[in-house]
Amino acid sequence: MILMEGKPVAASIKNELKAAISKRSKENKKTPHLAAILVGNNGASETYVNSKVKNCLEVGIISSLFKYENNITESELLQQIKMLNENDDIDGILVQLPLPDHISEKKVITTISPAKDVDGFNPVSVGNMVLGFPTFISATPYGILLLLKYYNISLKSKHVVIIGRSNIVGTPLSILLSRNNEFGNATVTLTHSHTADLKEICRSADVIIAAIGKPQFIKADMIKTGAIVIDVGINRIKDDNKKNGYALVGDVDFESVSNKSSYISPVPGGVGLMTIAALLKNTFNACIYLHP
Ligand code: NAD
Repeated sequence: MILMEGKPVAASIKNELKAAISKRSKENKKTPHLAAILVGNNGASETYVNSKVKNCLEVGIISSLFKYENNITESELLQQIKMLNENDDIDGILVQLPLPDHISEKKVITTISPAKDVDGFNPVSVGNMVLGFPTFISATPYGILLLLKYYNISLKSKHVVIIGRSNIVGTPLSILLSRNNEFGNATVTLTHSHTADLKEICRSADVIIAAIGKPQFIKADMIKTGAIVIDVGINRIKDDNKKNGYALVGDVDFESVSNKSSYISPVPGGVGLMTIAALLKNTFNACIYLHP
């Protein structure tokens, strides 16, 4: 079994970005600048945003964190996004999801300018992705493509079973992996909570991508020997041995599945690190597009 660790992949992407940003600076070209918006005080969201900001700093991307109280109104938030759209110094904008119930996610993602949509959630970005046109691919699917590339795994003619059809992971991945390009050419089955015979479908998979949000849901008897397993899930489970009282686990039961798989990505240390690396790449690309 080969562990598909995100650390070396993310490190190599970050080194490339660092060198490219420093080269731009020597040429007196603009430094990329990410604006991150965080609403409320959801602990997991704060951790994700802080990690994005820290990673920006490591590669030389400027980041500005805009924190708002839970009671910011929808129109105030949309106004802030419009100001960032107009601000020439900002290259990329991300709004950390989920948002409080009184704010429409749809309105927020459609308000972010497609040119600065480094999370790739705007319908314009998604439409371009579906059609295979150049665009921002959302960070988690993009990170998974980069992870597969690093470990030299071609999906050509393989049967890939994706579990979970979210707009940010499962659905875009199902499209990307079935396209006719170096990352694609797989035969993809997109499964979800209403799929019948999930176990049988999973057992027919050469590659399993789990994005369900249920701790250790994929067990060894759901995969065939030698399958490639990519675990997207990030779940907190109670663990009294940890200082903070919880441990992070994926959607895959790593203990049992790793003995049967040929490749497996760990949680933590797998797809999560790739998501951040992909976001940094998108932010850099936004900057060179807006300020060549
Ligand atoms: P989600 O939480 O929006 O939806 C879960 C999906 O799983 C749904 O499509 C649902 O149909 C499917 N599902 C639920 N129960 C099922 C069952 N019994 N059988 C088959 N399918 C079932 O999905 P999401 O936002 O993609 O998140 C999934 C997981 O991935 C979460 O743990 C989340 O924290 C994690 N995540 C990780 C990253 C990362 O960077 N590593 C990024 C995004 C999401």
